[in-house]
Amino acid sequence: MSSRLNAFLLANDLRIATNPCVSPDFCLDWSALRDAHAAGRTKTYSTSGFHTASGEWVLFEDASTGDHGWRLTPRVAAVAPTTLTDGAPATDGTIIFPATWINFLALKNLIQEHDSASTIFPSAAGNLGRGTLGIGARFTTLHWPAVEWAMAALNLGLTANQNSIPRELVYDVDAMLDGTLDTVPFPFIGANVPEGHQGQSVEGMSHGCVLSKLKNGFHHRRIAWSFNADHQPIGGKFDTREDALVRGCLLASYITFDLSPELAAGTRAKLADIDATLVAKVRARVAAAGLTLDEAAFTALIEQVWPSMAKMKRRDEKYAAARAAAFTTDAGRAYLRELSIDELPGLTTAETTAVMLALCEALGMKIHFVAPAFGFQKNMPYPDNAALRVLIEKQWTVCRAFDASIGFHSGSGKSAENYQVMGAVTGSRLEIKTSGRYTYEMGRALFASKNAADQALWRDWYRFTVELALLGAFSTDATERKMARSFITDALAKTNSPSDEAVVFATPAAARSAIEALAPSPEHMFWFEYNFLHVLAAEGRAVKSALGDHTVAGYRQRARFYAISEEGRLGFAKNIAAYILFLAENTGLAPASVVATAKARLEATTSLADFHAAISL
Ligand SMILES: [Zn+2]
Repeated sequence: MSSRLNAFLLANDLRIATNPCVSPDFCLDWSALRDAHAAGRTKTYSTSGFHTASGEWVLFEDASTGDHGWRLTPRVAAVAPTTLTDGAPATDGTIIFPATWINFLALKNLIQEHDSASTIFPSAAGNLGRGTLGIGARFTTLHWPAVEWAMAALNLGLTANQNSIPRELVYDVDAMLDGTLDTVPFPFIGANVPEGHQGQSVEGMSHGCVLSKLKNGFHHRRIAWSFNADHQPIGGKFDTREDALVRGCLLASYITFDLSPELAAGTRAKLADIDATLVAKVRARVAAAGLTLDEAAFTALIEQVWPSMAKMKRRDEKYAAARAAAFTTDAGRAYLRELSIDELPGLTTAETTAVMLALCEALGMKIHFVAPAFGFQKNMPYPDNAALRVLIEKQWTVCRAFDASIGFHSGSGKSAENYQVMGAVTGSRLEIKTSGRYTYEMGRALFASKNAADQALWRDWYRFTVELALLGAFSTDATERKMARSFITDALAKTNSPSDEAVVFATPAAARSAIEALAPSPEHMFWFEYNFLHVLAAEGRAVKSALGDHTVAGYRQRARFYAISEEGRLGFAKNIAAYILFLAENTGLAPASVVATAKARLEATTSLADFHAAISL
């Protein structure tokens, strides 16, 4: 509660109402919230009710600040106000508590001890470990109601909260305040951008996604959903901060292990140094899965991947230990595992997948999803469905032998036919991971909104990407220049504008006039590629040094997105829900008739209040 981060946020008037999920806490000023509650200036969410052994709980909020609290009506009148910390008894016999991170963790355990099948918190239950959609939540509180709506309409549990950590989310708010966050290379921008480029912290996201379910009454439907800590980096330069990564991801019910940092470091083991019994087990298991590897190839592969597998095992033990220390129930401790190997160069061979899965099995790590590389480009359909089918079939033969589903990474923007192939080959035992798609959907919603402030934000956003594209197109960095020019040329070609590179890029002035002749649109590739960087760009400025700014300037910019109109919010939510319906139908995760009914309901929804109301029972 008195954390340095909260002090920083309060001192700069960066409140939860317009900058949610930055702090792990959902209450920055408890004494002010207590006063507001006593004065009747808070809103109680009647749909949020749930029980623990102590009594009945509801969530309340001071909408002017976004600070949240819990109100307990004790089952036994004299229950001590120490169930959670900082409790304050009210005159009517209820007790109120601030929605702090510490209280949130305590509540999770109290809820699950009382009802192990509760779906308030993310879990590994139901079909979540076999078939799901991974929905990246870049705009947090604006985003979650859309996923809740889709899950409710389809009666289908999804990976309803997902983002890459530490790439997209701040993994440690103290490191952020200290200015010691690492940077991530973005070759197409020709620069490194601080990690956590969306601004929210992993704990803030963990907290916010649950509060959203309660506010909208989603938990009454008893649909289990999961939270995926995506692309958890294993080994390499991340060894030194793995404890902080584990701590931050405590509430994730689904961990994606990304071995690429250790594999990229090029470490190798000697076969003779690996437990011979384990190696024999792996060899036998790969053979039983129907794959023949000659001895030299098997040795080379196992020597290459062993160091990263050993580190994955060590990390996995830490995730399990953190959950065992914080929670007492099996439901509260369980988590799913995904093995991501699509970051390795080239297409993943069936042999590699088999050896990796056999190693995980021999090490006692049940893998629910494995993500091989299929040669997908983000937001581009796969051009050949017959070839795609062959690639997936090869992988599926291996996955089935290990009872694992296939994770499709870079899954946004594929064609309906691509998704149909993925679903048909795997019998819907798959996960499609999508994230960048939803930033695009925000752009589409603002572009379509008639609200003046939404339009102003859209224009600034578009202008930002124009300037970054022009900057890149004349960069001295060859990769950056080539990428920027290809994004611009694509937009010109798709609008039937002259797109001959020699002419368009003859001079900076020529390029500017070509791009400025285009009507602004969220369909332009350069807008799509650069858009996510606008969210935390200091003062919205299109210069590399302003990107991923974790100071007041970056968070003031972020606040603009959370101040969009109801029309903008509804448009965004409907766009997301529509995309989820599309994915669920084509992958076979939901029956076509159910999707058709949901589509009709979505199209008929004309107010944000109606949209939210449809989430609860
Ligand atoms: Zn991946």
